[in-house]
Amino acid sequence: MSDFPTPPENALCRGCGYALRGLPSNRCPECGREFDPRDPATMLLGRRVGRLETFFSRPPRLWLNGPAALAGVSLIVATSGPGGYFGLLILTIYLGMFLAVVWGLRLLIAAGIAIANRRRSRPSMRTMARWVALPVIFASAALICAFNVPELTAFWLSKSAMERHARVCLNNPTTAPATPSWLGVFPIKRVETFHGGVRFFVAETGFLSEHGYEYLPQDNSAAEKTHQGEKIAENWYRWTRGFMD
Ligand SMILES: [Zn+2]
Repeated sequence: MSDFPTPPENALCRGCGYALRGLPSNRCPECGREFDPRDPATMLLGRRVGRLETFFSRPPRLWLNGPAALAGVSLIVATSGPGGYFGLLILTIYLGMFLAVVWGLRLLIAAGIAIANRRRSRPSMRTMARWVALPVIFASAALICAFNVPELTAFWLSKSAMERHARVCLNNPTTAPATPSWLGVFPIKRVETFHGGVRFFVAETGFLSEHGYEYLPQDNSAAEKTHQGEKIAENWYRWTRGFMD
């Protein structure tokens, strides 16, 4: 790097205020912005940027984008049960709202600092990526949940385990059905038998309501007429029991 000129003593990155002396290349290690040591317009000169200003100019990093990713995963898990896992869903919504407020305030402050410093240049791709990470994560998780992908995936992963258990229950109509703690990826609260079918109550779902699945193995038109569940697979229905039912 012998041909790389040294920037002036007080040169700072225009993107984030990082000190640019003694770097191995003409790229800011903090935000990835390029500068030309021979062109003062590509650097901030003459004014020391305060630590607080430097801190608030930076895009969010792992401290915010990490919890945002966690909230995204948490939303997918919380909506993977019929009716949603209520407690986790509430926690996730609070966490998501809190992170979105922190993100929004940081964006406003950083934009305010950039405007005050007359920084007109476009931020680097890396800086942009760090800013858009949270909205992209939240929008992707919301889209996945809007299409009910988590619940359908969980159902198909658990279907054979529930079917096996249902057949055991139907073959032993005189004994009360056993309640395993898990069937596939579903935590089970209760198992009931009814005319020719088996009903699974998924634990922790709903608020003042119960949610689960019904298994009706044979073409049981009488039973099929009486229940209001929505068919989600051959012999399988999703059902909900409200607080007043
Ligand atoms: Zn920088």
